[in-house]
Amino acid sequence: MSDYMLRATAADGSIRAFAITSKNTVEKARLAHNLSPIATAALGRTMSAALMMGYMLKGDKDTVSIHIEGSGPMKGINVQADAKGCVKGYVFEPDVELPPNSQGKLDVGNAIGIGVLTVVKDMGLKDPYVGQTELKTGEIAEDLTYYFAVSEQVPSSVGLGVLVDVDCSVRQAGGFILQLMPDVSDEVIDKLEEKIKGIKSVTEMFEDNMTPEDIISELLGNFGVEILDKHDVEFKCDCSEERVLNAVAGLNKNDLQSLIDEGEPLEIRCQYCNKVYNFSIDKLKELM
Ligand SMILES: [Zn+2]
Repeated sequence: MSDYMLRATAADGSIRAFAITSKNTVEKARLAHNLSPIATAALGRTMSAALMMGYMLKGDKDTVSIHIEGSGPMKGINVQADAKGCVKGYVFEPDVELPPNSQGKLDVGNAIGIGVLTVVKDMGLKDPYVGQTELKTGEIAEDLTYYFAVSEQVPSSVGLGVLVDVDCSVRQAGGFILQLMPDVSDEVIDKLEEKIKGIKSVTEMFEDNMTPEDIISELLGNFGVEILDKHDVEFKCDCSEERVLNAVAGLNKNDLQSLIDEGEPLEIRCQYCNKVYNFSIDKLKELM
């Protein structure tokens, strides 16, 4: 199954919903950054959420970024998604390992620790939208649920999951976001809360071969659900030699000159995808 996400509504438009399967996307990120299992789970959950949040944006060129900074050994995560299903991202310390948590799961919460979550939405306006909340658990889904409630004032339920296989490859990844619109009735809220209490985890649903459509139907089937749209997703960075070159041209001349004097070619690594760009001494002289 290739990776995709979908958008749906239910209860006469008073609930909006997103679901995603992102196994290949997360696996590509794992290989690009050589991530440990905990780092794979942390980045995979954040990327899956960012893709769905990008899907909420209106403009083609709009982007959403999730920045997490915490006191734990992973230190932080940066992810950016666009409105067209592309995501890129990295964790600050990709080789973190910790013992399993009390449920026997990858301990993402302790790897991230206490800290802050910042969401930046660039919608082509003069200033981007910036929302910031403290981390609740460091497990990402709970942190985003809290963010939506407090910063965007949209009651939401966020489920995210990444299952890492014994060979460290990504076995399952994906999630959902449900959001209540202002016109939602108390009756719908009560029924939905009851439903969500009883559901399996996201990775269990994927292990049962459920698709994003099945997950939406499982969550919202009793509320007259309507699937509106579907979109492919992928891990894709928009860095290029030209962009990196612009950054190099912006370096101060003394720094460039000292590299040339030392005969040291310049190596620049893109943080988001780990691609390496090399600039020879001749190229550096040309730039001077
Ligand atoms: Zn890149």
